[in-house]
Amino acid sequence: MVCDLDGVISDASHRQHFLEAERSRDRDWKGFFHACIDDPVIEAGRRLIASFDDRYCVIILTARIFDIRDQTLAWLAANEIRHDWLVMRGPREGQQSPRWKRDQLLALTAAGSDIELFVDDDPRNVDMAQSLEIPALYVPSGYYDSRDSAAPEHR
Ligand SMILES: [Mg+2]
Repeated sequence: MVCDLDGVISDASHRQHFLEAERSRDRDWKGFFHACIDDPVIEAGRRLIASFDDRYCVIILTARIFDIRDQTLAWLAANEIRHDWLVMRGPREGQQSPRWKRDQLLALTAAGSDIELFVDDDPRNVDMAQSLEIPALYVPSGYYDSRDSAAPEHR
């Protein structure tokens, strides 16, 4: 199964204020990502991925930037979040989340993965997964209710 991190397992609501500027280039994406170490756990998300049979691989697919890999791994370990793989956005991969995640899902599928379930709190990502005929579960976090969905994700 492929599961998002922020808004599904990790409660990023305390750092949404970094993204309040109207224009994407005025938003503090770095501040937003680097504050992740203080996120509380979303217990339902943790239990959802823990409930999968051990035969299934749990892939955490997050649009977080690679710069905060160490903080993310430390957070996952400290909070005992089950995962087999962690896939993060690399340098110069600032495209919108649905486009980036679509590329990752296609790569996983091309490598032979049969994705049983995709979970995300961004409605655009859920639509994208469904367009690939991957069963997708929408977890409403409220982070996307007022955000301009056409803006680039980070710079
Ligand atoms: Mg999310």
